[in-house]
Amino acid sequence: MNKYDCIIIGGGPAGLSGALALGRARKNVLVLDDSRPRNAVTHEMHGFLSRDRIKPSEFRRIAKEQISEYPTVQFAAETAVSVEGSDGEFMITTAQGQTYTSRKILFAIGKKDIPLPIAGLSDVYGKSAFVCPYCDGWELQDQELVIIAKGAGAFHLAKMIPGWSSRYAICTNGPDELTEEEREELRQHGVPVYDAPIRSIVSNDGKVERVELEDGTSVSCTGIFFAPQLTIGSELPASIGCEMKETGSVITDALGRTNVPGVYCAGDAGTEMYQAIAAASTGAMAAMSINGELLMESWNRSNY
Ligand SMILES: Cc1cc2nc3c(=O)[nH]c(=O)nc-3n(C[C@H](O)[C@H](O)[C@H](O)COP(=O)(O)OP(=O)(O)OC[C@H]3O[C@@H](n4cnc5c(N)ncnc54)[C@H](O)[C@@H]3O)c2cc1C
Repeated sequence: MNKYDCIIIGGGPAGLSGALALGRARKNVLVLDDSRPRNAVTHEMHGFLSRDRIKPSEFRRIAKEQISEYPTVQFAAETAVSVEGSDGEFMITTAQGQTYTSRKILFAIGKKDIPLPIAGLSDVYGKSAFVCPYCDGWELQDQELVIIAKGAGAFHLAKMIPGWSSRYAICTNGPDELTEEEREELRQHGVPVYDAPIRSIVSNDGKVERVELEDGTSVSCTGIFFAPQLTIGSELPASIGCEMKETGSVITDALGRTNVPGVYCAGDAGTEMYQAIAAASTGAMAAMSINGELLMESWNRSNY
């Protein structure tokens, strides 16, 4: 069985960027990816230098096309279901029945949304309801917006959204979890806060029209920003002993190293930054770190 220098689990911006760096470093790499990126709901990816407004699937297609120029990188559309072994000798099994071995592992598995129990949200998510104003605020500028969030998250968004639109309200979907001081500050800035639970989001062809509350209030809007609930893209890092944060991120150092020797993590799975360009950057950094480790091991082996 061919042993890879590194198996990358996940082929989003983080994993692909790692594959490019390792391919250029002439390492044998396998990218396992089952194509369930978190931004699959969106039509456009914004703010990635030189790729602004690209379709996420097109971004991946171009990346894979360019990486395929490097003959030591292979791709498999498979789901990794188990990871065993230790540094230098990892074994990865996939749901498709394949087993692969590698010296190093790079987890680039992203994060997943835990669907929120708000009727109508899935109809507008990625079309007129988004999670990050840096990603999608430009497209919703000056529109009537609703923030769906509680407590500190709602307060934080309330202070950010005016950068894109001054017409917005908060729906906390009750209970609100705001402090009295936060409420007072929101009052002073003229931000309406609705605390009743949301009955449903009414939309037409993905375009939100209003948020209807249980107390009969109807808050009209053409865009929503909401606080998502996230979980790690796969349980595999924890299964092999990676330490995790409460946020569901794998704990790494600045070069993507986890506490498990030979195991690295990059992208959304290891941060809370949630930007494609940040994911790509950490993927490249981790790849360089992996390459450095492989080169050092090879250097030491030949030292007789
Ligand atoms: C609605 C929305 C809009 C966004 N808009 C923008 C934007 O405009 N600009 C921007 O910069 N960012 C945006 N983001 C954030 C951006 O999508 C992420 O930061 C970025 O995709 C993270 O890249 P990643 O490689 O870490 O993870 P992902 O892109 O999520 O890729 C992870 C990959 O790993 C695969 N995977 C997971 N587990 C396994 C396994 N066991 N076996 C095989 N494969 C596996 C998944 O199928 C997936 O393909 C948006 C996010 C959302 C939710």
